[in-house]
Parts: sequence; structure tokens; C-alpha cells
Amino acid sequence: MVMEHDAKQQCIVCNEEKAEGIVVVDQFICLDCEQEMVHTDVKDAKYPFFIDQLKRLWMKLHA
Ligand SMILES: [Zn+2]
Repeated sequence: MVMEHDAKQQCIVCNEEKAEGIVVVDQFICLDCEQEMVHTDVKDAKYPFFIDQLKRLWMKLHA
């Protein structure tokens, strides 16, 4: 269990509402996407997509 939430939050990667996940900066990433990111290889086609999503978070952080 990474975090506890009473209500579901919208995941910034898959846009689905999930109860479990992590909060990076103030953005929610669901457990499924977090796990997928961890296991996604650089060569995987999905990787740039995840990086793009995360980049938005870091840009927000430094805005
Ligand atoms: Zn997700």
C-alpha cells in the first residue's frame, strides 16, 4: 500500500479514477501506471508517453 485515499483520484497517465497510487508533486499516478512505468523498458514504445506525462509534472514543479 503506497498511500491511503478515501476517494478515488484521476490518474494523469491513463485518466482513469483509481483508489490506489502515488502522488508525484501534486499529481496522482495510479498503481497500475506506476507499476507499468517501473517495468517499461526504454525501447518500449510506451516509454516516451510516460516520459511526456512525467515531464508535464516536472514543468509544473519548476513553473
Ligand atoms: Zn493510471
